[in-house]
Amino acid sequence: MHSKQHWAPGKGVKVQRVARTASDGWNVYASMPEGGVCPDCGHQSRRRHGWRHRRLMDYPAHGQAVTLKLRVSRWRCTFQHCKRNTFSDDDRAIAVPHARRTTRAVQIARHLGHATGGRPAERLMRRFGMPMSDDTILRHLKRGAAGSAPPAKVIGLDDWSWRKSWRYGTIIVDLERRSVVNILEDRSVESAANWLRKNPSIGVVSRDRCGLYAQAVREGCSTGDPSR
Ligand SMILES: [Zn+2]
Repeated sequence: MHSKQHWAPGKGVKVQRVARTASDGWNVYASMPEGGVCPDCGHQSRRRHGWRHRRLMDYPAHGQAVTLKLRVSRWRCTFQHCKRNTFSDDDRAIAVPHARRTTRAVQIARHLGHATGGRPAERLMRRFGMPMSDDTILRHLKRGAAGSAPPAKVIGLDDWSWRKSWRYGTIIVDLERRSVVNILEDRSVESAANWLRKNPSIGVVSRDRCGLYAQAVREGCSTGDPSR
């Protein structure tokens, strides 16, 4: 059993059973720790109200896809002064609500998408046993970007390639925080210049190697708010 431990995504998750299927690789059946802590009153409960299996794509194993089948329980709060009847296991450390992949698998996609662009990242993810479309990679990149609070000051512009259409978009990276700010649908001077106009906090723009965005930077940064 000990050899199976490395499949567990940590955070007290226990692997119960590992089964390999011909069609979709490894299925890892795992469960959250026994008992839950009520989010309202903080009392522990071991009275299970029910449970469900959450299907999550996780890190691959031996070159094959791994689906984590995580048993998530709903517990009954037994503290008499608490108004809450039931509450669910807190599995947010493993995957965000409604996600179909573990957070650590999504992070790999974000890193690859950030470093290589849509089409190469999709190809690499499939190779690594974590198939994901370029649209999904893009969605995760944008979602990761949405959380960054203060506006970016130093950005880089580069190509973003989509597999389906064989066209290019524009990825905008915050060079100070090393995070993705946005991805524009195309690779035109207008849209990049427009975006720069709408984001007056940008002071320094580092362009791609071949200088495709040079014109956008000149247009976007010179016609913005004159009070800056
Ligand atoms: Zn409670």
